[in-house]
Amino acid sequence: MNDCCDVPSTTVPGTGELPEAGCPAPEAASEPASRPRAIRCPACGARGRSVEVQTVKALLGVSLRRLRASAYRFCPTPHCAVVYFAVDGSEQYTEEELRERVHQKHPDDPQVFVCYCFRYTPGEIQAELATTGRSTVVEEIQAGIEEGQCACEIRNPQGSCCLGNVLAVVRRLQAASGVQAEPSSAPTSRPSPSRSLGRS
Ligand SMILES: [Zn+2]
Repeated sequence: MNDCCDVPSTTVPGTGELPEAGCPAPEAASEPASRPRAIRCPACGARGRSVEVQTVKALLGVSLRRLRASAYRFCPTPHCAVVYFAVDGSEQYTEEELRERVHQKHPDDPQVFVCYCFRYTPGEIQAELATTGRSTVVEEIQAGIEEGQCACEIRNPQGSCCLGNVLAVVRRLQAASGVQAEPSSAPTSRPSPSRSLGRS
């Protein structure tokens, strides 16, 4: 039997040395191939999403002279103040240091953009649902993408397309409005600033 992984038991004649094995030692083969990297948020411990340096540069509201690292990640945790952190652990940036408020940090806030390229907020989606019973936002965004009008990598803090987030918001608001619409005496179908609370 001449398996390459057989441990040679005899020396090469005349040299006293073992012949070279045909494959690497088991220790080397089982070693992890990837280098350890700080992919977890230093504040909340959640796994960060890869984000291009260009996105961090575009969204930061502080001097870019602070940038030292070559790779950053995005923390999507709602209750965590950190938005970007360097994978080498050297830097982190909170939402207050950005030029935009971040959808993932305020998923239920009607005023915080969910689509940064075409400027849609959950409040606008809610208003359309209340008025027409359906949302055209996803179709509008898809039309914009087809015409090459989006710029997610420099406008959306997550650095990628917003459609998944928008779909989640539409479904959540549809479900919420569906629950409210069932009773015949629904309290309100749209925000009404003129409605009085009855206090004098
Ligand atoms: Zn975090």
